[in-house]
Amino acid sequence: MSEHHEVVVLGGGTAGITVAARLRNAENPPEVVIVEPSEKHWYQPLWTLVGGGVFPKEESQRDEADFIPDGVEWIKDAVAGFDPDAKQVTLRSGKVLSYDQLVVALGLQIDWSRIPGLEEALAKPDSGVSSNYSFENAEKTWRNIQSFRGGTALFTQPDTPVKCGGAPQKIMYLAEDHWRRSGIRDACTIAFCNAKGGIFSVAKYAKTLTRICDERGIERRFLRDLKEIRVDAKEAVFTRMGDDAGEDVVMKYDMMHVTPPMGPLDVTKGSPLGEAGWIEVDKHTLQHVKYPDVFALGDCSNLPTSKTGAAIRKQAPTVVENLLAHRAGHPLTGHYDGYTSCPLVTGYGRLVLAEFDYDSNPQESFPFDQSQERYSMYALKAYGLPRMYWHGMLRGRM
Ligand code: FAD
Repeated sequence: MSEHHEVVVLGGGTAGITVAARLRNAENPPEVVIVEPSEKHWYQPLWTLVGGGVFPKEESQRDEADFIPDGVEWIKDAVAGFDPDAKQVTLRSGKVLSYDQLVVALGLQIDWSRIPGLEEALAKPDSGVSSNYSFENAEKTWRNIQSFRGGTALFTQPDTPVKCGGAPQKIMYLAEDHWRRSGIRDACTIAFCNAKGGIFSVAKYAKTLTRICDERGIERRFLRDLKEIRVDAKEAVFTRMGDDAGEDVVMKYDMMHVTPPMGPLDVTKGSPLGEAGWIEVDKHTLQHVKYPDVFALGDCSNLPTSKTGAAIRKQAPTVVENLLAHRAGHPLTGHYDGYTSCPLVTGYGRLVLAEFDYDSNPQESFPFDQSQERYSMYALKAYGLPRMYWHGMLRGRM
């Protein structure tokens, strides 16, 4: 029940597969195993467009087996405990893996049950409540948008870190566009209820989004954190945050898209790799702050940047470069600057491509002002990036 491997990668999602593929493409590749319990792999960024009715959900799903890199062993199990002093992890099956180096790429946990009423509302077909944050629920968003005949539509964002900071509002712009095209826009009140104090963290893009909301009559309710759903009454109860703290606010809704609270996995909470559960790594080298043989990236890490696949595309080469250097006893030269990207879909055929670093400085890839809405950037998100993901990034090629 115990075996040794040179490199153990925990998690076979975006980050785990990308790092494993890059390690195997290296000149002198180490022996690598991936620990991943799921038979399926999802391209989660597509779920925004699934919720907007552009793609069926199956388009976002592939068999995990097809993306395990050549030469890598897939251990279909889940990590259940960490002993970094002994350089070991314990799996759910009881098996113990020892390693030379460990890569933690476990993603994050969606805490659906933290909002009383949410799971019941999602399960009930006519509740008007949906969420793009799961493969199972994203298509319900599109059904709700289509069947909406007017009234109040709420779009929420919680006070926790979330996958893709822009996704809670992207679906709102698609819904607004659909209702405008269907001729019912005047009958709709649309509100973005965000527990954060503003619309977006980077001033350049926040300015564009504020203008878009003003032009399209979208209300903003900041510092409101969804805490309960009264399913039968169709009421959403919000905690007021910050300077606005005080009595709870109750809002009636006819349709609501919920971005649920998220946090670290239970298995990493209180672990030696990070007391709070986020894996504590140096924000530039991605090496663990206490255990030099441990590296982490992606949603499970404590990196102070927006949690996206685009960020992982830049983190993965840094992890691989530094892990290989560490194996060879060389200084670490790989450096990650916090790059992340958020393709802010602002309507059907319109998108603002936000790209920025740790200091919220724009780091744009194209020679034009990316804070403007463009069809070309929408086409990139809908048709270009999924192909680049499946055929390039997960193969360790970009
Ligand atoms: P994941 O890809 O979630 O992988 C984690 C893996 O760990 C999973 O396969 C899981 O099964 C596995 N695992 C869990 N527990 C265990 C265990 N105990 N042992 C072993 N394995 C385990 N990003 C963008 O770049 N652009 C976007 O436009 C965008 N939009 C998004 C929209 C939505 C609605 C969502 C949900 C996400 C979006 N993202 C976007 C974010 C992006 O999808 C994530 O940041 C990215 O997938 C995170 O990769 P990861 O490898 O860290 O985690």
